[in-house]
Amino acid sequence: MTINFKDYIASVPDFPEPGILFRDISPLMADGAAYAAATDEIAAYAQDKGVEMIVGPEARGFIVGCPVAYKLGVGFAPARKKGKLPRETVSASYDLEYGQATLYLQKDAIKPGQRVLVCDDLLATGGTIAATIELVEKLGGIVVGTAFLVELSDLNGRAKLADHDLFTLMQYS
Ligand code: 5GP
Repeated sequence: MTINFKDYIASVPDFPEPGILFRDISPLMADGAAYAAATDEIAAYAQDKGVEMIVGPEARGFIVGCPVAYKLGVGFAPARKKGKLPRETVSASYDLEYGQATLYLQKDAIKPGQRVLVCDDLLATGGTIAATIELVEKLGGIVVGTAFLVELSDLNGRAKLADHDLFTLMQYS
């Protein structure tokens, strides 16, 4: 059976603020067959890349990255917000519409030379994923691919990932 993944994305106007059309992945997560099929698509993209580790940013990057890690038989490391990781970390900051945000990765999460797939639910401006890539690269990891369920094409996050391979399951303009 072919799954139309967009049937499992709820588009919510004016969330989290007026003028934003939020793409909610909850219906996809709630449907076992659709969630598994989406996981399989990302795992198939990563299959020949020699991935040894997956990194995903808090919080929906965990939802996408962890089942892919299980499917590929590799580990997963969370990139987290301030104050969440108990041991020594590296950090990377990125711009938000107003202000900045910082993500952290535990220093021993990635070994130098390890081949890493970076996963998140959605690519918008690319700030979150660029910071996640920076964390991996600070630790000497090699980002062999990036994968998302949804890409908001008009925000051109792709441009920020210019020299990294990119897979998106669905695109909205
Ligand atoms: P970016 O940093 O690429 O501008 O924004 C992407 C990040 O913000 C992702 O971590 C994603 O979870 C979150 N995000 C931004 N807009 C949306 C949206 O419409 N739907 C979902 N599910 N996440 C969003």
